[in-house]
Amino acid sequence: MFTPSSLSVLAPHVHRLAVFVEFGLPNLRLLHEELVISYAYRLASQPHDHLARNLLAEQYALPLQTSFDSLTPFGSHLKQVEARWNFDHTVHVPAFKRALRSRALSIQIEQLLKSPFSTILRKLSLKPWPCSYIKLDQRPVAILRSRLRLNRNHLNYTQFRCKLVPSPHCPSCPNTDESAEHVLFHCPTFSAARRDCFSTLEEFHCPTTFEVLTGDFSSIPPRHRQVALAATAELLLNINLHRPI
Ligand SMILES: [Zn+2]
Repeated sequence: MFTPSSLSVLAPHVHRLAVFVEFGLPNLRLLHEELVISYAYRLASQPHDHLARNLLAEQYALPLQTSFDSLTPFGSHLKQVEARWNFDHTVHVPAFKRALRSRALSIQIEQLLKSPFSTILRKLSLKPWPCSYIKLDQRPVAILRSRLRLNRNHLNYTQFRCKLVPSPHCPSCPNTDESAEHVLFHCPTFSAARRDCFSTLEEFHCPTTFEVLTGDFSSIPPRHRQVALAATAELLLNINLHRPI
């Protein structure tokens, strides 16, 4: 159970949405709205004498209704969604469906970052597509990455904020919080594993940042992503062996 004092720990609804963003999926409301625009795009692509296409054009030409019920024409729903999304079903873009999904995820990220519970997410540069590790990693490593990224790990700093352990400190480093940053970048317990990982990353000109270590490889050229994936996975598995993440 989360309390208002643990703002940097994600509230459950924010956490659910954050998991959706990691997978590149919009929430159900946005998904429904995405389908509304996508359906209108399909109708508008039909031949000029298509009945459904003409019906939509007729409805779309009517003034926007301000009150909605079950009899509200589809065209009015469409107009309202398009106004909220700032996205038009008649727009000509090379990959319409991909552009639409990207817009849905951008809206979701905007909404998520407005929440006072999103302190942790504001540190990540969330993108409107699935995070690299979701597509590239094996499940055991993907779990470790998402726990660190979404602040759902078992390190003392996080557990202490949820009132689950008596101290936030690292068992090896007196008076130092055992945060994700501490174990990844500073704790001497993992210096050998860290050195191996960082020297591989540096050899391939990959940044040694929190985002890369936790599986966001969007800043790395595609040809080096597998190297970064393997090197960072080894570091995380090594840490997890001594301090379960
Ligand atoms: Zn330490």
